Amino acid sequence: MDFLKPRYMPMNRRRRIYEGKAKILYEGPEPGTLIQHFKDDATAFNAKKHEVVDGKGVLNNRISEYIFQHLNDIGVPTHFIRRLNMREQLIREVEIVPLEVVVRNVAAGSLSTRLGIEEGTQLPRSIIEFYYKNDALNDPMVSEEHITAFGWATPQEIDDIMSLAIRVNDFLSGLFLGVGIRLVDFKMECGRLWENEMVRIVLADEISPDSCRLWDIKSNDKLDKDRFRRDMGGLVEAYSEVARRLGILSESDNPPPTAGPSLVKH
Ligand code: UDP
Repeated sequence: MDFLKPRYMPMNRRRRIYEGKAKILYEGPEPGTLIQHFKDDATAFNAKKHEVVDGKGVLNNRISEYIFQHLNDIGVPTHFIRRLNMREQLIREVEIVPLEVVVRNVAAGSLSTRLGIEEGTQLPRSIIEFYYKNDALNDPMVSEEHITAFGWATPQEIDDIMSLAIRVNDFLSGLFLGVGIRLVDFKMECGRLWENEMVRIVLADEISPDSCRLWDIKSNDKLDKDRFRRDMGGLVEAYSEVARRLGILSESDNPPPTAGPSLVKH
């Protein structure tokens, strides 16, 4: 019954739609689908710093799958369909809104630098920021005024993006808190999905330790890409720790993949 199995074209015969810093998008098996491939490349400071980190792509594929699948399960719309293999997932084709949406719970990174707020300071409430996705301009921060004036998104789409961002932040904060990790901030991207003449905003791209700040609750150890940005080493170990705590490491891992999230007692 081999002919009944879905077939995926060998990598070298697939049409490459787009190649970014950490991912490649290929044409999918059906119209309206794409394959998202996670590379091992780590970049920072607008790709001025670049390294290949063995195993990073595999970990991000698994962690992002876990997060997107759970978001789908609680009714948060995403582009994610299913994971295909170690490095690839099947996604719905969307038109990416050219914004990086950053949600912050704790001061860190550019917020601390820009406003002089000490890293680690709990914010009075979650803050949503928008950056215009443009490498040549270094992804400048923009306001809703810029976004609507230049037509990057409509006022209704901005409302939808903000509601989505709040739901994703609530889900992620709880998920990570349960495994002893503080969600300091994260970046998300949205896309427009067309379904029978209707268009709606869905979560796209990835959510992984590449795009989040994740601190161990007890030690404040960084379990995210800041280890790479700040030359701290131990990137794969940190990402593996996140995967392990979420209960999603496979093969000979301890605990086994069926174990589910491991509760950390405070
Ligand atoms: N971020 C990202 N891609 C970017 C810029 C930021 O994924 O191009 C994430 C980053 O990992 C962090 C959050 O967005 O979790 C906020 O980043 P920040 O504005 O503090 O910038 P950074 O200090 O990373 O330059």
